[in-house]
Amino acid sequence: MDNKRRKFLKIAGASVLAGIGAPAVIKLTAATPALASGHGEAPAHAPAPDAHGGHAEEAPQGVRLGMVIDLRKMNENPEMLDSAIAACIAAHNIPEFPDKKNEVKWIWKAPFENVFTDHSASHSAAKVKNFPSVALCNHCDDPPCVRACPTQATFRLEKNGIVAMDFHRCIGCRFCMAACPYGARSFNWQDPRPYIKKYNKEFPSRMKGVVEKCNFCGERLALGQEPACVEACKGTGAIVFGDLNDAKSEIRAVLDKEFTIQRKPTLGTKPSVFYIV
Ligand code: SF4
Ligand code: SF4
Repeated sequence: MDNKRRKFLKIAGASVLAGIGAPAVIKLTAATPALASGHGEAPAHAPAPDAHGGHAEEAPQGVRLGMVIDLRKMNENPEMLDSAIAACIAAHNIPEFPDKKNEVKWIWKAPFENVFTDHSASHSAAKVKNFPSVALCNHCDDPPCVRACPTQATFRLEKNGIVAMDFHRCIGCRFCMAACPYGARSFNWQDPRPYIKKYNKEFPSRMKGVVEKCNFCGERLALGQEPACVEACKGTGAIVFGDLNDAKSEIRAVLDKEFTIQRKPTLGTKPSVFYIV
C-alpha cells in the first residue's frame, strides 16, 4: 500500500470520528439531544403513526447527513452548477475521459426527465424542461448497493448515514452498479490517472477496474470543511447540507419551508438528497 492510500485510510477513519475536537461544520456523530432523550420533536421526514399506532417505516436515528438542491437557483445561474461539478472533480481526482461512454461521474448534469423518471415531464414548465438537473449519489438510508457488495468495499457509516467506499477492497465485480437505481456509480474501464487534469495529493486516485462515486466529501467533513460542491455554491442557498435529524439545522429549516421531491422514492431506498424544483 503506498503512502497516499495509507493517508486516505487514515482520513477515512477520522471521518467516522469527526466532530470530536475538530471545528466541524456539521456535527457528524452525536445523536441530537431530542432523539437521544427520546423526547422532543420527531424528524421532519419521520413517518406519522398509522391508524394502529405504529409506523409505516422505521424512523431514522442519530445523525443523518443529507442535502437539499434548489434547482430553481441552479437554473438561474448555470455557471454555479458547473463550478460545483468542477470543485468535486478537483477535490476527488475524478478523471475526465474524452470518450463519454467511459465517463466517471460523482455529481453530474442530466435532463429533468432522466433524473426524475417517476415524474411526468409532459407539459412541464419550460424552466424545468430547458435546464439541466443535477444528480449524485443519494446516500440512501437503505442502500441496495451496500447489500449487493460482496466485499464490503461499499458500506454505510451508521454514525452519519454516508454511503462510503473503500477503493482498496473493490474487486470490480460491479454488482453495486447493477443494484444502484440512480446510476450513481462509475467503473474505471481504463487507468484513470492519465486523465486527472489537476492532481490533488490529499485524495487518492483510483485504478482501472475500481468503482467510485460521490462520498459526500467525508474526507473534507473530517477536517471541518463543507462538501466541495456546497462550498462552490456558498451564500446562494443552491445546495444546503446538514443533519436531517437536527431539528435546528439549516437543512431542516429548508425542508420545513419548501416542497421537495426525491429521486425514485417508490423504490424504498430512502434517498438523503432532496430537490426543490
Ligand atoms: S444512490 Fe446508489 S450508490 Fe448512492 S447509496 Fe443509493 S444505491 Fe448506493
Ligand atoms: S464493484 Fe467494488 S464496490 Fe461494487 S459491489 Fe463489487 S466490490 Fe463492491
